Amino acid sequence: MATKAELLKTIAEEVTACRKCHLWKTRKNAVPGEGNPNALVMFVGEAPGYWEDVKGKPFVGAAGKFLESLLAIVGFLREDIFICNVLKCRPPGNRDPSPQEIQTCTPYLDRQIAVIKPKVIVTLGSHSSAYIFSKAGLEFKSITQTRGNFYDVAILGEKTMVFPTFHPAAALYSAKYKEQITDDFKLLKQKLAERGIA
Ligand code: URA
Ligand code: SF4
Repeated sequence: MATKAELLKTIAEEVTACRKCHLWKTRKNAVPGEGNPNALVMFVGEAPGYWEDVKGKPFVGAAGKFLESLLAIVGFLREDIFICNVLKCRPPGNRDPSPQEIQTCTPYLDRQIAVIKPKVIVTLGSHSSAYIFSKAGLEFKSITQTRGNFYDVAILGEKTMVFPTFHPAAALYSAKYKEQITDDFKLLKQKLAERGIA
């Protein structure tokens, strides 16, 4: 039987070669996502930005640096977790993902979730949170109303806890969001400890 690492590699290879939506034409590199195949916690962002597109890796720009400092609050290194995005290719100028792009690309994210079977999915920002809420059969109102709360749900038939928070890029430029996302990661640390996850 294929290992989780092998299954994730197959998905990443398909993403790298994918031309299912028009974003393949403007990308430098697709960004499938990376991390520990046996991660208990998965972080899902929105889409690659400039540096992610250049390097083919998720969260390697300014938002990535900030995310690493937030992970440190929980006691995580990048290699402890799995990090990916809703969209695997960069929308030109970092515009919002379109509903059509999300629909076309998310089968890859679904397959990554199905392989990893994370106990916790931390959704970064409204696009990621709205998509994961839809998979959980939950109504998504807004990121400000949902963030910092834990949702025990089933995703693709597996018990999963969903934890929405702000997107680190949004929090970078707002002192208020920065404080709130930092509080969210402190709460996450507490909850993971309570559940014996980290
Ligand atoms: N923002 C995202 O949503 N994802 C990345 O990988 C980088 C920035
Ligand atoms: Fe394929 Fe997704 Fe990239 Fe579109 S964004 S080309 S669906 S990998």
